Amino acid sequence: MLSAMARFPGTALIIAFAVASGTVSAQSDYDSERQALVETLRNDSQRASEYGVLPISERTLSVIGQVPRHEFVPEEQKRYAYENRPLPIGAGQTISQPYIVALMTDLAQVSKDDVVLEIGTGSGYQAAVLAGLAGHVYTIEIVEMLGKRAAETLERLGYSNVTTRVGDGYAGWPDHAPFDAILVTAAPESVPGPLVEQLAAGGRMVVPVGAQNRVQTLQILTKKDDGTLLVKEVISVRFVPLTRDED
Ligand code: SAH
Repeated sequence: MLSAMARFPGTALIIAFAVASGTVSAQSDYDSERQALVETLRNDSQRASEYGVLPISERTLSVIGQVPRHEFVPEEQKRYAYENRPLPIGAGQTISQPYIVALMTDLAQVSKDDVVLEIGTGSGYQAAVLAGLAGHVYTIEIVEMLGKRAAETLERLGYSNVTTRVGDGYAGWPDHAPFDAILVTAAPESVPGPLVEQLAAGGRMVVPVGAQNRVQTLQILTKKDDGTLLVKEVISVRFVPLTRDED
């Protein structure tokens, strides 16, 4: 190796330059790919509105345009980070499709003083999107490796209004309840009772409900001031199952 460089010093220099400029252009590639993704989501959401799903708001799209999704996926997936599809993140789990992240965020109607709970931190991406709109986000992940990695990513990127925890999200996070919005990003067979209890009056829960490994229904539950729930079904979705701790 040493001798090859000694014989072709010019080659080594050119390679070094190519690597450095490759890094710079990758960053701006990510930026332009992210803007293209926003455009795709805007178009898809307009098409979905023909089927009665409300279009995704510009407020939500603008946050999608800011959160660096490539920072939340494993190295080998970064090149696909701005395609509108789920990607593997390890431990058999996935980061959701951006359209679904945007739709669930929008349905939760988060405003800037809201306290939000997310069940299923996964990569931390959905939590970061919510953090751009909410006062504070609490998020729980059952797989320790994922929970720790997401916490590190969120901290590294400076998301100071997100608090993470490793544990079973079925029980919610009573210490910080009530929540103005709850997003469940793994599918329970029926809506967990503790989460309904921890939803504030006027609060919205967005949750995919249905049997494991089947198509589920994305539901919005709105808690009225008298405590009764209004349930609306939005679209069919497919999420990984909400698992439970064994104890
Ligand atoms: N919101 C994530 C993607 C969610 S994938 C993101 O933005 O990347 C669903 C996640 O829910 C998986 O990481 C899975 O491990 C987690 N999960 C499943 N059951 C859970 C439970 N009972 N409590 C907390 N997290 C759970």
